[in-house]
Amino acid sequence: MKVFVYPGSFDPVTNGHMDIIERAIGICDKLIVGILINNKKESTFSVKEREDMLKSALNGRANIEVTSFSGLLVDFMKQNNVTTVIRGLRAVSDFENEFQLALLNKNQYPDMETLFMMTSSNYLYLSSSMVKELAIYKGNIDSYVPACVKEALIKKFTNI
Ligand code: ADP
Repeated sequence: MKVFVYPGSFDPVTNGHMDIIERAIGICDKLIVGILINNKKESTFSVKEREDMLKSALNGRANIEVTSFSGLLVDFMKQNNVTTVIRGLRAVSDFENEFQLALLNKNQYPDMETLFMMTSSNYLYLSSSMVKELAIYKGNIDSYVPACVKEALIKKFTNI
């Protein structure tokens, strides 16, 4: 069975992430969406909130598991017996960091392969931070996030 891991902060999940998830599940049998617990990086939503939003957006979609992990991605991959990781690439600006990460991971875990999926043109400039910035100032985010995320953002940023 072909299993891929799609790791990220998903703070919160956007339609750009959802697009990568949909396309990734088209080329594997099972996808594990791994929310990275990074205590050094301040997040807007708790891990539980991020997990709930992802699950709700995926609406019980078969063959997709949502979970969280802390520590090194390579250790998470080994624990799950998975060797393929999926990453999304937006602009050239993503490339250098992703390239560095992929090489570093390969060095730590030689069996690991990183697959890059190009963003769909609609989501080229879409990031979780851009969506949050728009939400704070009550901009229209309808086409950028699933409905449950829109609701959560409005709730989070009311009274700011
Ligand atoms: P962000 O960079 O927005 O904080 P994450 O850390 O959650 O997002 O990213 C997880 C993965 O999803 C990364 O590989 C990232 O490049 C990818 N990704 C994020 N937004 C998009 C998008 N709009 N289109 C394609 N891939 C994306």
